[in-house]
Amino acid sequence: MTFDCIIIGGGVAGLSAGLRLAEAGRKTLIMASGQSALHFSSGSVDLLDVPGDPRAALPAFIGAHPDHPYAKVGADHIIASLQALQAHCAAEGLILQHGERNHQRITPIGTLKATWLSPDSCAIAGEAAQPDTLLLATPEGFRDFHPALAAANLARQPGFTHCRILTGELRLPQLAEFSRNPHEFRSADIARLCDRHDLLADLAAEISRLTHQAQGPCRHVILPACLTLGRVDERLHELEKRTGCTIREVATMPPSLIGMRMQEALRRRFVALGGTFLTSERVLGARCIGDRVQGLYSQNGEDLLFEAEHFILASGSFFSRGLESRLRGIREPIFGADVHGSSERDRWADQRLFGRHPFLGFGVKTDERLRVLREGLPLANLYGAGSVLAHYDPVQEGSGSGVAIATGWQAAGHILSEAL
Ligand SMILES: Cc1cc2nc3c(=O)[nH]c(=O)nc-3n(C[C@H](O)[C@H](O)[C@H](O)COP(=O)(O)OP(=O)(O)OC[C@H]3O[C@@H](n4cnc5c(N)ncnc54)[C@H](O)[C@@H]3O)c2cc1C
Repeated sequence: MTFDCIIIGGGVAGLSAGLRLAEAGRKTLIMASGQSALHFSSGSVDLLDVPGDPRAALPAFIGAHPDHPYAKVGADHIIASLQALQAHCAAEGLILQHGERNHQRITPIGTLKATWLSPDSCAIAGEAAQPDTLLLATPEGFRDFHPALAAANLARQPGFTHCRILTGELRLPQLAEFSRNPHEFRSADIARLCDRHDLLADLAAEISRLTHQAQGPCRHVILPACLTLGRVDERLHELEKRTGCTIREVATMPPSLIGMRMQEALRRRFVALGGTFLTSERVLGARCIGDRVQGLYSQNGEDLLFEAEHFILASGSFFSRGLESRLRGIREPIFGADVHGSSERDRWADQRLFGRHPFLGFGVKTDERLRVLREGLPLANLYGAGSVLAHYDPVQEGSGSGVAIATGWQAAGHILSEAL
């Protein structure tokens, strides 16, 4: 099978690259072995956790971190890559919004997290005053969102101290089938049920029951994201019409529907642009001649070579097995690429859970054009993108999806400029 470009990895980095290549008319294949980090993420896109406008902070940040993947993309291209992602999501009905500075997304445990882009269905603490009364409600028996815990934490956040935060359970007999097995009572299970049966009337009645019990006006409601795997804006709009309330959602504990919706929207868009997306297709190894990759072998047919002119390694970090931790150190399993790491295992992690963990900065080394290095030299037609890359700390910097989107877009740009 021969393509112009093959991308290993179907997360946001691989999709960002694939969308740019497919849009430019390149015959592009994405091979993904399984789920991506998006299935577990909030679905918001972090760019850089700084006070003020993170776009304006990029040049100074890049100047101070010359090895950082952002430095290999450049501030203007980072912003262009995020705009491209927004446009692709919008084409699939997923509206991502931002302001002139980071906004605070409300997390499932009621803390606030600075981020740059969020779907417009998300509960955020905007700059406007918070409402006097807020209701956090969840389906009765659902374990992946705890309104009482979220309310207790939220009440301590700046901007919420004056806010009366109520909690409640939505009694929906249709969900009784899940109570037998808590493992089947996850956000995706509820969403599938909502996608099969129209529960909106019952849900609206339950929300109204709780807001009427509020002793005083209650017009703002937050629900866990569990209403649909598809377009949620139509459902929220309908619920708002029926209840007279503003209704927003928070990401639940994983699996996270908000992230899954983004994954699915980008995959649909990629396919609509002519791309081929293969799932359950784990790449096991590569055939290289000199400094060029000729093709890839996958688990589904070791005698079949997937050939292309250009390749992008977007296989993720330890979480997705793009990097593997072995007794002797860290390795990149497909190409045996050069990896930035440390042989002293006891220095990989900080003692404190929320400390700075060096292992988060481990990853594949690349040259200035994001070409993957092996034995100190770049492979001529293999680019790296996303969380497989070295020299950044998504947690401390608040840069997770931002780096993935920017480097995927930039790697595709290098391929397109080479082909000219
Ligand atoms: C739990 C979690 C929550 C996060 N939350 C946020 C958040 O709220 N906001 C934010 O901005 N960032 C967040 N991040 C960080 C951000 O989501 C990731 O940095 C980003 O999604 C990484 O994207 P990626 O495409 O590089 O890698 P991944 O999403 O990990 O994708 C890697 C892909 O490669 C595939 N793959 C791996 N090996 C092979 C192989 N051999 N053959 C074929 N395919 C292979 C995997 O199946 C997967 O499809 C979170 C990360 C995690 C882990």
